Amino acid sequence: MTQSSVFHRDLESGLPVVVSGDGNYLIDDRGRRYLDACGGAAVSCLGHDNISVREAIKRQVDQLAFAHTGSFTNQPAEDLAAHLVAHAPEGTGAGLVMYLGSGSEAMEAALKLARQYCIENGEPDRRHIIARKPSYHGNTLGALATGGHAGRRAPFAPLLIEVNHIDAPYPYRLQHADESEADFAQRMANLLEAEIQALGPETVMAFVAEPVVGASLGTQPAPAGYWMRIREICDTHGVLLIADEVMSGMGRTGTTYALEQEGIAADITTMAKGLGAGYQPIAAVLAAQKVVDVIKAGSGKLWNGHTYMSHAIATAGALAVQRVIERENLLNNVIQRGAQLEEGLRDAFAQHPQVGDIRGRGLFWTIELVVDRATKAPFDPAEGIAMKIGAAAKVRGVMTYPAQGCIDGINGDHVLLAPAYTSSVDEIDLIVQTLTLAVADVLDC
Ligand code: PMP
Repeated sequence: MTQSSVFHRDLESGLPVVVSGDGNYLIDDRGRRYLDACGGAAVSCLGHDNISVREAIKRQVDQLAFAHTGSFTNQPAEDLAAHLVAHAPEGTGAGLVMYLGSGSEAMEAALKLARQYCIENGEPDRRHIIARKPSYHGNTLGALATGGHAGRRAPFAPLLIEVNHIDAPYPYRLQHADESEADFAQRMANLLEAEIQALGPETVMAFVAEPVVGASLGTQPAPAGYWMRIREICDTHGVLLIADEVMSGMGRTGTTYALEQEGIAADITTMAKGLGAGYQPIAAVLAAQKVVDVIKAGSGKLWNGHTYMSHAIATAGALAVQRVIERENLLNNVIQRGAQLEEGLRDAFAQHPQVGDIRGRGLFWTIELVVDRATKAPFDPAEGIAMKIGAAAKVRGVMTYPAQGCIDGINGDHVLLAPAYTSSVDEIDLIVQTLTLAVADVLDC
C-alpha cells in the first residue's frame, strides 16, 4: 500500500487494502482471503458479492440516484417502507418509516421524534431520557450521550446531554447465585420503575435500549420476562419505548426484530446494519401508529430532516437485501447455523479456564474472557487480550469483532461473532476452529 491519506481509526495500523468480495470472504490486494465471521460490526449479513443486490443497485443507478425529499418521494423508498411496515412487530400498527444514513443518525432521529411526540401530545415537560449501561447507541453527540459506554463517553463528557442510565441485565455478573431467571428479570426491569419515580414520571420522555446488547457488552439477550415488564412500566407512566435494533434487527437473532421474541413491540424502532447489509449506507426509524397518530393530529410534519433521506439507490439496495432474506428463507439458516455456532462455541470453550461466559442468540454470539473463571476477574484492559485474539484470528484468515471491557473493569474483554446469514455448515465449523486456535495463540503462551 502506498502512503495513506485516509484519517483511519488507528493511524499506525497499516491496514490491508481490501479489493473484492467472494461469498462470505473478503480478499485483499495481496490475494489473502478472510472469512468474514463478524460482518464488520454485524453489517454484512449477505456476504460481499450478492448478485441480486448488486443488480438492483445497478438498475437504480441507471434510473435515478437522488431527488430531494422536500419535493419528491421515490419508488424504492416507498417500496422498502411498505416492506418494513408489513414486517413490523405485531403491535406496531401501520406505522411510518423514516430513512437515515447511519445507526447514529437513526438514534438521533428517534430521540427527536420522541420529543416531538411529547410536545404534540400536550406533554412538553417530558424531556428525560433513561437508557442502560453497558450499551452502545452510536457516536454522534446525542447517541453517544444515550450510550452507556464509559470509555467512549469519557473524552466528550462535557458536551453530552443529560441521560440517566440503569444497569442492563447481564446475568454472568449481575444475577445472584440464588436468584431465578424470572426474579432477576423483574429486579432488573424494576430499575426502570425506580428511575422513573426518581425523575418524576411526568418528566420522562423515553426509555432507550438494545433488545440484545451488541457492541458494548457482546450479544447479551435479556432474561425471559424482562421486556414484558419494561413494556408494562412504560405504558403505566406514558413513557415511550425506543428499541435500538441497529445491530440486533433485520434477522440477526433469527427473527426480523429481536424484540419480536419477547412478545412486545416498541413505539419507536431503529435499524441499520442488516438493513443495507453494507451494500448501501442506510438506516431507518420505524414509528408505531400510536406515534404517527399524534403527529398527524398535530402539526402533520416531521420536525427532522437530512439532505440524503430516502436516497433512491440506498433504499433500492436495502429493499433488494430484504427481499433476498425473505426469498431465500435466510432466517431459517440464521436459526440453524446459529444453533451450530452455539454448540461449537460451547464444545470449544465451556471448560476453557479463561472463557467465563458464552452468550448470544441467532447468528450473534460472544465469548467473554476472564483471568480466572472462579473469580470472574476481567483482564486488565491495557493487555488488549480480545484485540490480540482478534488479530490472531485475522492472521489465520477469519475476521472477528473483539472489544475491550467498557465499564470501569466491570465487564471483561470479549470477542463477538456475527457471521453472514448465508453461512454454510463448513464456514461455521471453520470459524469455531479458528477462534479456538486464536484463543490458544494468545492465552496458552
Ligand atoms: N446502535 C447500535 C446498537 C449499534 O450497534 C451501533 C453501531 N455499532 C449504532 C447504534 C451506531 O450505528 P452507526 O455506527 O451506523 O452510526
